[in-house]
Amino acid sequence: MAGEFDLIARYFNWPAQGEGVSLSVGDDAALLSVKAQHQLAISVDTLVSGVHFPVNTHPADIGHKALSVNVSDMAAMGAEPRWFTLALTLPEYNTAWLEGFSAGLKQAADDYGVDLIGGDTTRGSQTITVQIMGEVTPAAALKRSAAKLGDVIFVTGTLGDAAAGLALAQGDSSIYASGEKRAYHDYCIQRLNRPTARTVESRIIRQYAHACIDVSDGLLQDLMHVLKASQCGAVINTDDIPFSEALSSLHPPEQCLQYALTGGDDYELLFTVPDDQCDGFIKAMSEQQLSCQAIGYITDDAEQIINQYSHLLTATGFQHF
Ligand SMILES: [Mg+2]
Repeated sequence: MAGEFDLIARYFNWPAQGEGVSLSVGDDAALLSVKAQHQLAISVDTLVSGVHFPVNTHPADIGHKALSVNVSDMAAMGAEPRWFTLALTLPEYNTAWLEGFSAGLKQAADDYGVDLIGGDTTRGSQTITVQIMGEVTPAAALKRSAAKLGDVIFVTGTLGDAAAGLALAQGDSSIYASGEKRAYHDYCIQRLNRPTARTVESRIIRQYAHACIDVSDGLLQDLMHVLKASQCGAVINTDDIPFSEALSSLHPPEQCLQYALTGGDDYELLFTVPDDQCDGFIKAMSEQQLSCQAIGYITDDAEQIINQYSHLLTATGFQHF
């Protein structure tokens, strides 16, 4: 498994903590056991330097985010994240970068309770690929295609922070170098660089929801994936879209909405709950102090969402179907 620099063995060979790992890093393949009555959920995501994160992003943040965005896909499926593999392409052997990246990745692995079970390294433009594996019972799996007429549409957390963070990271951040806005600035950057996969929320959501997706490309685009797969439409009450105090302090409402609808990298969950299950769901979430917000409902008019936001869709070059 180790590549030309033997990097996996040197920087990424942690003992497996969780269940199901018979053989981890160091052989030609890992050996895993999936729990009885469960299915294996698998997803892969690649981060390219300068495309998926600014080139000056701290390596520890890159390591943490590379795993978080994959764990987020498990949360969106209603699956428990268990194991991951890492494919690392680097232009050079940079010890400081590798130590930072490894520390961030390990932190995320500990945060989410997942084990690194193998990997590969190559030389080239900086690219990080993580493949995540999780376990889910067939009944709990949250498919995009499962939204039903009348379902209430919810999101976890707040939207738009990461897009605002990206604008700040790419722009002149010295404008917030001091004063009260500095804390809001830092918050949005943190949301961009250290997204939190909603694994805790997912454990409740999967007991109630029909369909679910994680918001990686902006609310509108990810909602569209659900609507297309479920062959239905939606009405979104834009006044109900949750913004953080940081976002609404830095930007006027129109800009907050634009970031939430068409920005990316929030990694909140968007999901649909049958109307008669909403009370129980909201109670279960609030008992664990987990935030969620109803923002609309599912309709049988597949064109509805398009008509409502046509100006924003046009402005961002959004392609439907
Ligand atoms: Mg996803």
